[in-house]
Amino acid sequence: MPTDFWDHEFFMKMAIRQARLALADGEVPAGAVIVRATDAAGRAIRPILIAQARNQVERLKDPTAHAEMIAITQASGAGGDWRLAGTVLYATKEPCPMCAGAIMLARIHTVVFGAADPQRGGAGSAFNILDNPALNHRCRPIGGVMEEECQALLREFFASCRTRGIRILRQSAQDSGERSRTNSTAGRMSIRTCNGPIRMLRLKG
Ligand SMILES: [Zn+2]
Repeated sequence: MPTDFWDHEFFMKMAIRQARLALADGEVPAGAVIVRATDAAGRAIRPILIAQARNQVERLKDPTAHAEMIAITQASGAGGDWRLAGTVLYATKEPCPMCAGAIMLARIHTVVFGAADPQRGGAGSAFNILDNPALNHRCRPIGGVMEEECQALLREFFASCRTRGIRILRQSAQDSGERSRTNSTAGRMSIRTCNGPIRMLRLKG
């Protein structure tokens, strides 16, 4: 693949721009772009951007609306072919198992990602879906490209969730008054936009 000589950071910056748009929408900041590297005959061509997308789970109320899934749909539509052989997908975050499965079905050649996801990454951190000898297609994963920038976006998102969560809980305590002290469940609420360890917060007192 000619991508061995590509400047991966150039395309990762495009994915990061998408992730920033997601962050501005209050979504988990994840962005993805897909770039075509070869023509139908497998010959190297100048890179062509064929898709760029951001996470839209909250906006679309769709748990499958991850950046990679939307980018794959865009790229398939743009090329009139669901087979995306000869393409490279750039993602700010290691693809989850769902997206890794879609990447395999689309026969994407290479996945370049920024931040690894030790909890549920499907590119080898938690599950090795992309480069698995048991499957009939193998995709080459390359991790750690602009990792710090990609992780910083995620940290910013979770920090904003904590800030909003504390504000919501304080409001909740004021609204519920006496109940918050007598009912053990008062002051406890789920914050839908947050994942992971801060999904549930408990109000003290
Ligand atoms: Zn995903």
